[in-house]
Amino acid sequence: MVEPPDEDIRCFQHCQREVNILCFRVPDFCPICKADVRKSASRIPPYLITSPFTNAAQTQYSVVIKPTIGTFLRDYTNQSNLHVGVTDSHGTVYDYDEDGVNINSQGWEKCVVLELTQHISGEFMKRWDEKLLGFSQHSDWTKYRYDESSWNCFDFVIQFLQALGMDQVYPQIRNRSSFCQDFVQPKTYKAAQYITLYRDIKQLSYVCQPSQIT
Ligand SMILES: [Zn+2]
Repeated sequence: MVEPPDEDIRCFQHCQREVNILCFRVPDFCPICKADVRKSASRIPPYLITSPFTNAAQTQYSVVIKPTIGTFLRDYTNQSNLHVGVTDSHGTVYDYDEDGVNINSQGWEKCVVLELTQHISGEFMKRWDEKLLGFSQHSDWTKYRYDESSWNCFDFVIQFLQALGMDQVYPQIRNRSSFCQDFVQPKTYKAAQYITLYRDIKQLSYVCQPSQIT
């Protein structure tokens, strides 16, 4: 089944400074003053709202996050289980699940990305690819050892980052709860705001919001 591409969210202001109008396609008539948008000036012409989702193939040295089932835009709720992986310098994803370590499997085209390399030296990056390949081949990460709650994708990612010494730079990597609370949750919270807006626009065709929010 081929899914239609996701639509881009656009934002513009027509007549009121306090009100942003968010839509996929700019409506013919302003929802506030009813004027023909094509024949009248907009206070702020339409611009694209940046999507929080990235194709993992376009990332490097990152942690990538997606719902275990489905996609963020279509399936995500705040109850959803998340699946995480790590990308190498070429954007190849390594992730661990009940089949063992997967390398470059499908389904990472629209993920949330955690870049952890902003504050670290090139030394980490030089070792990253080799270390990741070796780490993923270790007997700790066979499918037989996988356990949905106690030995899963998060353990794989966190232990890899620790093996690399990244916990010296980011103490949050030392355990799963601080990793999730400080790194994963702020990202998924932001993604959830975008998802809510996207679904509202899909249903209503446009949404008006006070301009401070966006
Ligand atoms: Zn207007």
